[in-house]
Amino acid sequence: MKIIFIGMPGSGKGTQSELVAKRYGIPHISTGDIFRENISAGTPLGKKADKLIKSGKLVPDSITNRIVAKRISDPDCMKGFILDGYPRNRNQAEFLEKHSKIDVVVLINLDDETARKRIRGRYNCPNCGRNYNIFTGPIPKKDSLCDSCGSALVQRKDDEESSFWHRMEIYHRITEPLVRYYREKGTLIEVNGNQPVPDVQKELIKKLGTTIFSK
Ligand code: AMP
Repeated sequence: MKIIFIGMPGSGKGTQSELVAKRYGIPHISTGDIFRENISAGTPLGKKADKLIKSGKLVPDSITNRIVAKRISDPDCMKGFILDGYPRNRNQAEFLEKHSKIDVVVLINLDDETARKRIRGRYNCPNCGRNYNIFTGPIPKKDSLCDSCGSALVQRKDDEESSFWHRMEIYHRITEPLVRYYREKGTLIEVNGNQPVPDVQKELIKKLGTTIFSK
């Protein structure tokens, strides 16, 4: 099963796609995570991506497409994979189509204001990578400290107000047109992202099950 997740920043696509990947036992591939790992490790790719990501801009297609093509050709992707945050524009979607046949595209629907509130509550552990959200949970037991390793939690640079609105603008202008593109291909399923995490997951699994069964 090869699945793409589309959703605005804060829609919960990362959380939901990871849960689905675990359930189906297939790799979860997040281009955002790949870039952040490279930034932490100080690789040449990380150095190129850092400024762009901090200001909420997209990393060039030539770089992103190459990374994805290589990753999905790894042996663990033979059974399928989940792409979280890719493709983000028409050029990437057409590139992907040449490399792989996608079974389902999941759109997580949410409104801008709810997404903004969620993003403001989002914290991450720079040491072990655990994610928290003071509005939607999980809430750290000790204020601003990671439950797992005790490190001080931080907010993503690109979650700060100005970068966030830039990412939103890019989402609506560049990524959202993909919804129509995939709807016309008949591969799109939509879920209501304005529900607690387990409820979104329940709706998603039900719709995925129906779609997979009907293929
Ligand atoms: P995400 O974790 O999906 O929100 O991605 C964080 C940032 O990484 C984005 O705001 C972009 O700067 C960059 N990024 C992630 N995926 C892509 C992509 N498919 N194309 C270009 N840039 C991307």
